[in-house]
Amino acid sequence: MSFLDATKHNVTRAAEALGLSDWEVLELNTPRRELKVELHLRRADGTYSTYVGFRVQHDNSRGPMKGGLRYDPRVDPDEVNALASLMTWKTAVMGIPYGGAKGGINCNPRDLTREELQSLTRDFTDELADFIGPKVDIPAPDMGTNSETMGWIVDQYSKYHGWSPGVITGKPIELGGSLGRTSATGRGCLFALLNVLQDRGESIEGKTIAIQGFGNVGSWAARLMAEAGAKVVAVSDVTGGMRNPAGLDVDALIAHVQETRGVKDFGGGENFPGGELLTSSCDVLVPAAMESVLTAENAKDVQASVIVEGANGPTTPEADEILRAKGVTIVPDCYANGGGVTVSYFEWVQNLQQFSWSEERVNRELKVIMDRAWVDLKAQAGESNDIRLAAFKLALSRVMAATNLRR
Ligand code: NAD
Repeated sequence: MSFLDATKHNVTRAAEALGLSDWEVLELNTPRRELKVELHLRRADGTYSTYVGFRVQHDNSRGPMKGGLRYDPRVDPDEVNALASLMTWKTAVMGIPYGGAKGGINCNPRDLTREELQSLTRDFTDELADFIGPKVDIPAPDMGTNSETMGWIVDQYSKYHGWSPGVITGKPIELGGSLGRTSATGRGCLFALLNVLQDRGESIEGKTIAIQGFGNVGSWAARLMAEAGAKVVAVSDVTGGMRNPAGLDVDALIAHVQETRGVKDFGGGENFPGGELLTSSCDVLVPAAMESVLTAENAKDVQASVIVEGANGPTTPEADEILRAKGVTIVPDCYANGGGVTVSYFEWVQNLQQFSWSEERVNRELKVIMDRAWVDLKAQAGESNDIRLAAFKLALSRVMAATNLRR
């Protein structure tokens, strides 16, 4: 099943459980607007390359649309549609006043210079400038983009509309970014894990963690989980896998990645094929790279008893069933990685109020929202271990309630 079909499957399953009509399911599965733009980049060597940029605006019944921008060669309309839909359900689960959107460019940022990336981003912003805005649609970083990318966007957008820091989140602090935003998604993963463990009467101390993806989400989850007492025993990224059963020195590994752009050949562990990460020996698995990586083929070999979905859509519906049947607790993406959009919301609030919060306040308020959402999810799930179904039911109910009040 494709990522888009899997997303629609999860929506439809929850809609059926709620007794929604076929027409309502169609409405919930259909985006409001899909933009596709062609971008011509003059490369440093004088040649031209063409890329396609997308923005899908899925739903705005609960507030302005919200969702990241991904720069990756695999970006295509179906992927962006699935991710935009997931954002609608995530903001609803987290109980923050947004809808859902997503966008990106089908480029490989590793192949582009900083100047080329800046030029491409500014051209993309020119094309989007009439369709995004602080009260309409607020992009943010995702795979392949970062605070610097967001800084170029706020500058370019402001040339059309005047100084508008609230058009984008995940900005550099100097341009109106929020303290605590960079670490927020990984911190949210930690809070989600702590909530699961607390319910089981277990502590994080000594738990072994394996993480796929060592970018923003994966590296922060690793650092914060290690600080909380867990042992990060294996990580992987596009360069391969790195493991140490005694626990990796996460700070030293982050420094190595900053220097070499990958986990490969880090001195404090041994290289292994990255493909083996998901089935490696660990208590907690954090897929934090990309979608559809846990499949019917590898799910039966997963050794973790808890999966914290740092990435969006890492588990196919087939894998989901196999894992739940094995008794694995799956903390679904629309809650587990909701810390990022939650602190994006705090950033937007600070921009609108022109008042900055301390990092301590950001982290504290993030915990309040993560804990509240967990209580809501547990109440929805009851005795079931299908937290994803509970999350979709909760989200659909909230979105339908707002939609019906606005008809
Ligand atoms: P990133 O670009 O900072 O990092 C991505 C990491 O994944 C890199 O280490 C890359 O090497 C690795 N990777 C890519 N393909 C891989 C593969 N096939 N196998 C192993 N590793 C691979 O991106 P990010 O912002 O950390 O996002 C990662 C995931 O988390 C995405 O699914 C994204 O949608 C989701 N997410 C991100 C945020 C955020 O705030 N950045 C918020 C919510 C969800």
